[in-house]
Amino acid sequence: MSWVNFHTHSNFDDGNVQIEEYVKDALRQNVSILGFSPHNPLPFHVDWVIKKEDFKEYCRTVQTLKEKYKDRIRILLGLEMDFLPSINSFYKEGIDLSTLDFHIGSVHFVNFFNENKGWAIDENAEIFEKGLNEIYNGNIKKVVKDYFKLIRNMLKLENPDIVAHLDLIKMNNKGEKYFSEGEEWYRREVLDTLKSIAKSHSIMEVNTGGIARGKTDSLYPSIWILEEAYDMRIPITLCSDAHKPEQITAKFKEAAVLLNAIGYKEIYILHKKTWAPHPISVSGVEL
Ligand SMILES: [Zn+2]
Ligand SMILES: [Zn+2]
Repeated sequence: MSWVNFHTHSNFDDGNVQIEEYVKDALRQNVSILGFSPHNPLPFHVDWVIKKEDFKEYCRTVQTLKEKYKDRIRILLGLEMDFLPSINSFYKEGIDLSTLDFHIGSVHFVNFFNENKGWAIDENAEIFEKGLNEIYNGNIKKVVKDYFKLIRNMLKLENPDIVAHLDLIKMNNKGEKYFSEGEEWYRREVLDTLKSIAKSHSIMEVNTGGIARGKTDSLYPSIWILEEAYDMRIPITLCSDAHKPEQITAKFKEAAVLLNAIGYKEIYILHKKTWAPHPISVSGVEL
């Protein structure tokens, strides 16, 4: 038994150290498959994505490490792609997705302050408040609806291997500051989005990054969403969205216990170029 993780950042984007440090720490944490997934380059400036000019170097680095560590750990070349509201697609300039082992689809930007300044809903509380008021005139319902609609569009138009942190929109909603997840309109948005996942070929990510970094009180997505997803037979995988090496398997044991209790006994893993279900328990994943 060992662990797997397909969602890892490094100092190519907003992680803290070089890629090889993550590999070494993954070995210490009994990880047998480690996928890297920097944020893809974007058509406007943000400081947390990989720079266009570094993309080739990133690919080369991962390929070199793949070979160097091949007897001890499987390393995968991936990207976390941002589905952008301005173009209703991923921004793929200079990137051939078919050369990657996998890609994750994410929605961070729900709207724009102006042409060159996107509003990412997972920035700090102040920026969240600013976007909500300046772009949406305080209408949180509209923000949430736009957010989930973008995810549904992404599923339909881009077919990502993994759909990341489904309810990231709750990140700045600690203590139900803006809405309650029990409200009918919120539940409907989530359930519609789950239906889209069920119809797609994408795997839903269970992301421990929010709780591991103290940003949320629960996993992405929340437990009630996982229960609904289980009833719809939606395939899942477990990722940490690690930004530091020590976070690669953070909260995995707790998540495995929870998933098992909900009914999920398997998670999907990329193995020999196809995604297939593998048993998961508190001791890890069976390959
Ligand atoms: Zn993300
Ligand atoms: Zn990420």
